[in-house]
Amino acid sequence: MKVLVINCGSSSLKYQLIDSDTEGVIAKGLCERIGIDGGIISYAPEGGEKEEQQIEMPDHKKAIELVISYLTNEKTGVVKSLSEIGAVGHRIVHGGEKFTQSVIINDEVKKAIEEVSDLAPLHNPANLIGVNACEALMPGVPMVAVFDTAFHQTMPEEAYLYALPYEYYEKYRIRRYGFHGTSHAYVSARIAEILGKKKEDLKTIVCHLGNGASISAVRNGKCIDTSMGLTPLEGLIMGTRSGDLDASIVEYICKKENLSVAEVENILNKKSGVLGLSAGLGSDFRDLEKGYNEGNAGGKRAIEGFVYRVVKYIGAYAAALDGVDVICFTAGVGENSGFVRQKIVDRIDFLGITLDEEANKKRGEEIRISTPDSRVQVYVVPTNEELAIARDTVALVK
Ligand code: AMP
Repeated sequence: MKVLVINCGSSSLKYQLIDSDTEGVIAKGLCERIGIDGGIISYAPEGGEKEEQQIEMPDHKKAIELVISYLTNEKTGVVKSLSEIGAVGHRIVHGGEKFTQSVIINDEVKKAIEEVSDLAPLHNPANLIGVNACEALMPGVPMVAVFDTAFHQTMPEEAYLYALPYEYYEKYRIRRYGFHGTSHAYVSARIAEILGKKKEDLKTIVCHLGNGASISAVRNGKCIDTSMGLTPLEGLIMGTRSGDLDASIVEYICKKENLSVAEVENILNKKSGVLGLSAGLGSDFRDLEKGYNEGNAGGKRAIEGFVYRVVKYIGAYAAALDGVDVICFTAGVGENSGFVRQKIVDRIDFLGITLDEEANKKRGEEIRISTPDSRVQVYVVPTNEELAIARDTVALVK
C-alpha cells in the first residue's frame, strides 16, 4: 500500500509517500511559508530530480493540493491517480491522556484532538488543519492520527506527576506527557531487533538529540520516564530551548527586563539552549563544533553544557531503570556528531563503557559504537518517524 505521511506545522508541511510493502520512500518534500508571503514547495521523487517552486500558499489546503499535483504529475509524478494512495498518516503532536496509541481519524477523534489543543496551541490546530485539508481533497481515503505523546503514556504516576497541588492535575491535567514518542518507540523497538532480543528483556535509554532533544528510559518495551514535560520545553538543553530550569527564573527575568511571562517563555523556547549559552554563535551543532575547535568560548560553553545535561539524565535513568543494557543515540546530532557522542560516552565510563573510536567516526548509520567487551552497549540507531507513522497507519487500515 502507498501511504502519504503528513507532518503539518503552523506554516509548514512535510510530506513523504511511502510504499509500505518495501518500506521505501517513493517521494518526499516540504511546503514552507504557508499563509506567509514567499511560499516555496519542494518535491523529490526517489531516483529523480529534486524540484523547487516559489508559489503562494494562502492555506494548508492549497499546500496539499500542490503536493497532490506533484505526486500525480504526468511527467515527474509517482502515482497515476490519487486512488493509488491507500491511506494518510498524520503526525499529531499532543494526544493528552486520551490517546495511548495511534487511531483511525473520525469526528470524535478530531474533537478530542481539539480538546487538548490548549496543551499544544501552536501544533495541534495546525495538525488538524492538515487533517481537514486532506479529507476535503481525498474523500474516502482513511486517515490515521499518530501522536508524539502516545508512547510515553505508559509512564507511572511517580514519573509523570509534578509536585504541585494535586488539584491542578485533576482539574487541568498538568503532568509530564513527553514528546518525540514516535522516535523513542521506533528506536527502542529497532535496537531490540538489532540485538536479536525480545523488547521484554531490555533496559534501554534512548537519546534523541536533534534541534529538539529528549531522552527516555524504556523497560520491557514501555516508556517509564522521559525528559520533556507538559510541553517540549523541559529536560535537555536544546538548540534554542533552555530545558530544565528553576521556575522562579521566569518572574525574575520578567522584573529585571520588564517583560511579560509570554515574552520570557518565548525567550526560553527560541533564544535559549545552546544558542543562548553560546552567546549567539548558533543553534546548529556544526557551527558550535567548529567554534569549539577554534577555541570559541561560547561554542565550548554550549557543547559542554549540552553534554553535561545528557550525562546527568543518563545517570538518572540508569537508576530509574535499575540498570541499563543499551544506550541509543538518534536524530540530527545523535546520528551525525561523533564529536558530541564521544564527549558523552567519555563521561559515562562508570557504566563500564569503552568507546569504539573507529565506529564512532561513522555518520547516520546503524552501528555499535561501544567495544564488544563494554558492560553497557552503545549504538547509533537513525530514527525514522515517517516510516513509523506509515507502519502504524497500515496496521490500522488493513
Ligand atoms: P534534527 O532536529 O533531528 O533534524 O537535527 C538537526 C540538528 O542536527 C542540526 O541543527 C544540527 O545541529 C545537527 N546536525 C546535523 N548534521 C550534523 C553534523 N554532521 N554534525 C553535527 N551536528 C549535526
